[in-house]
Amino acid sequence: MKALVYRGPGSKEWTDKPMPTIQAPTDAIVRITKTTICGTDLHILKGDVPAVVDGRILGHEGVGIVEEVGPGVRNFKVGDRVLISCVTSCGKCEYCKKGMYSHCEDGGWILGHLIDGTQAEYVRIPHADTSLYPVPEGIDEEALVMLSDILPTGFEVGVLKGQVQPGDTVAIVGAGPVGLAALLTAQFYSPAEIIMVDLDDSRLEVARTFGATKTVNSSRGNPVEAVMELTGGKGVDVAIEAVGIPVTFDICQGIVAAGGHIANVGVHGKSVNLHLEKLWIQNITLTTGLVDTNSTPMLIKTVVAGKLEPKQLITHRFPLSDIEKAYEVFGNAAKEKALKVILYQ
Ligand SMILES: [Zn+2]
Ligand SMILES: [Zn+2]
Repeated sequence: MKALVYRGPGSKEWTDKPMPTIQAPTDAIVRITKTTICGTDLHILKGDVPAVVDGRILGHEGVGIVEEVGPGVRNFKVGDRVLISCVTSCGKCEYCKKGMYSHCEDGGWILGHLIDGTQAEYVRIPHADTSLYPVPEGIDEEALVMLSDILPTGFEVGVLKGQVQPGDTVAIVGAGPVGLAALLTAQFYSPAEIIMVDLDDSRLEVARTFGATKTVNSSRGNPVEAVMELTGGKGVDVAIEAVGIPVTFDICQGIVAAGGHIANVGVHGKSVNLHLEKLWIQNITLTTGLVDTNSTPMLIKTVVAGKLEPKQLITHRFPLSDIEKAYEVFGNAAKEKALKVILYQ
């Protein structure tokens, strides 16, 4: 079969790989029908994730059709259409029993990281019963691909950990796909204001159409002063960090109101300065996390019901065999006005 393979920092190849096979009774083999590229894949390609070895098939998102199941798989059979979760869970370990699938002792984020991933014609999914979700009848499969990773990430790590409440003022720093996913799902809770902060005017425009009430372009002037001005000097109840660099974390520290929450979603490669000399008296809460994907069944229901329209995040489509071109477009997101790309076969 064909697959996109990591070849060390800066290098990847669309090439032939052996078909995946059942290795444990709880495995399933899935034929990928739709997949996508994540910002995390770009981090891997830069060499930021050294656990990814030369020869690894990338990708941790997608939908497909079950091709083969091991004898221990109970919930799925050959021919079933499935959503692949970016997080694999055994369902049995101490962390899984707490709903913290991200820290599963025999899973977590392993696809396209520690085992071969979804940017391929076929993929092996361990613990299939608890790591796949049935595709509901009539749902748009492209929309569903957004539920493998970015929607649960924006929702669980941004909105839920940030404890967004009705009437709140929320700021989301970073209008990339995950920041926009937080923007879409924050609206479940009817916050009064959602202020989007980003460097790119076209992304801020998209954010307005997705429900942002105010926008701040952080490349012009001081974004902390701009947000403080928009909030009458009080700051925001919830600041969601959706970039992962010191400057965006600093913005969140600068704009959080007394009693507020900073929910970090971004993947940080460098340390940040935590300004406890200012924050010690502010009654704030700072949270971090990797997505558990335990909200996925609920998010699927909201898509079926039309309450959530993740398809808005898709800007480009390519056949899977054109994945290298898709990486170029996704890697130049600002120039190409790209959010999420769909690869289909
Ligand atoms: Zn991802
Ligand atoms: Zn587990």
